[in-house]
Amino acid sequence: MAPFPFDNSYARDLRGFYVAWQPVAVPAPRLLYLNHELAAELGLDVAALAGPDGVSVLAGNAVPEGAEPIAQAYAGHQFGGFSPQLGDGRALLLGEVIDRRGGRRDIAFKGSGRTPFSRGGDGKAAVGPMLREVLIGEAMHALGIPSTRALAVVATGEPVFREQALPGAVLTRVAASHLRVGTFEFFAARGDVERLRQLADYTIARHDPALSGAPDRYLGLLRAVAARQATLVAQWMNVGFIHGVMNTDNMTISGETIDYGPCAFIEAYDPRAVFSSIDHGGRYAFGNQPAIARWNLARFAETLLPLAADRDDEAALKRAVADATEVIDAFPGLFDSALREGQRAKLGLTLRPAADAAADAATDAALADDWLALLARAGADFTLAWRRLADAAAGDEVPLRALFGDPGAADAWLARWRARCAVDDAAAAGAGGASVAAIERASRMRRANPFVIPRNHRVEQALAAASDHGELEPFERLLAALRRPFEQAPELAAYGEPAPLEVTAGYRTFCGT
Ligand code: AMP
Ligand code: MG
Repeated sequence: MAPFPFDNSYARDLRGFYVAWQPVAVPAPRLLYLNHELAAELGLDVAALAGPDGVSVLAGNAVPEGAEPIAQAYAGHQFGGFSPQLGDGRALLLGEVIDRRGGRRDIAFKGSGRTPFSRGGDGKAAVGPMLREVLIGEAMHALGIPSTRALAVVATGEPVFREQALPGAVLTRVAASHLRVGTFEFFAARGDVERLRQLADYTIARHDPALSGAPDRYLGLLRAVAARQATLVAQWMNVGFIHGVMNTDNMTISGETIDYGPCAFIEAYDPRAVFSSIDHGGRYAFGNQPAIARWNLARFAETLLPLAADRDDEAALKRAVADATEVIDAFPGLFDSALREGQRAKLGLTLRPAADAAADAATDAALADDWLALLARAGADFTLAWRRLADAAAGDEVPLRALFGDPGAADAWLARWRARCAVDDAAAAGAGGASVAAIERASRMRRANPFVIPRNHRVEQALAAASDHGELEPFERLLAALRRPFEQAPELAAYGEPAPLEVTAGYRTFCGT
């Protein structure tokens, strides 16, 4: 059968960048999850995918027509240290399809068995971590944050051995591409300028085609990646997402979030929050993410230098370094404006035109910073505090006050925020008076501030039920809630509640191995 209309540009155009490889067959495939909406977006036949032949494909037992499975080579800086060879150790790119909107999407397995890049690993994945990719990826997507997404998860019917035996699974992942900073590092580290150029030109054709053929296209690529990462990380910061393992091999060129291993959503607001069991130094702490993104981009910039200037041309090299440095130095500014724009929407504010915009921006930045400082001091729940600020906009401050130990803690700040809202309302006067403005603001804020996020205790409950008891209902109910993050319907109430404090305090996440 031909479930996917493959068109495999990576396999075709980048020979020598991968190893052709086959997935390992598994004993008893059983479909745990199929993403119908995503399948439709890709133009796939959902019924066929869910049938026995489809499941056999999604398990890696039958390689579908047109697939050219490959293990991609990449390197990466992991916790600051360089590993010259990582690569797809338990993943395979099956091929690419063109989606309904004309976008090229990778179809890839995770957990499909050992490859030449497996090093000591078994190449396998467990049910829990793969369903976790489903939950967090779909939550991010519903929140409007670029993300790779899970198309399917199939239980393999065989155990994988971690600290204990766990049920095994294969995930089918869909991505704009699997090009990473680490892909460039692989060839840069080997001094293979020819392949590096081929890779960069392929990447430009795929992600930034407007730059194709331009003389300064590699600098343009760096700028484009910096811009995408600035908006992405700003979005993470505005929903309280901690990636947990921002190694350069986990930073995409496309600007999609990838690899949901030790990630978590912050509950009580604390910029120093770290949940990953292996992040002892707090390198990937919540508040460090923008600085790490910049650090990763500097590693990316270094890989592009040999393309911008000949090694022997000292003057050209100097210029290339200066150009790249300018882009890296501009990153904090790009990030900041994306962050501020998001915060302004969360605060229910708008920028007045022209002359007043700069003053508004400064006021709003101070408001946002002081709000976050307030939450940090009180240890208030990040998501609920923003959400209940919308209730305050609508006239009810009681739910917000309840989040602070001292119910008057936010009074002075609220007065400043209301004054700023009044400035907006005066500028928009004539639209129907103060009460209409308040209702409109509250409803805008409820579209910018989610009620349902993947609460860590809910995620763990759902995964434990699926993994320990083969009970998928909690996973399915949670997933349905995560798809409606901005609604506050009664049946979603339980998903908006923070974890008990003692759960969050002891919460540790693990890389999805
Ligand atoms: P990750 O932490 O998932 O980003 O993976 C980092 C590197 O370790 C990549 O090269 C993976 O392919 C590899 N890796 C992770 N888990 C396994 C595994 N179970 N078997 C083989 N390789 C793995
Ligand atoms: Mg990875």
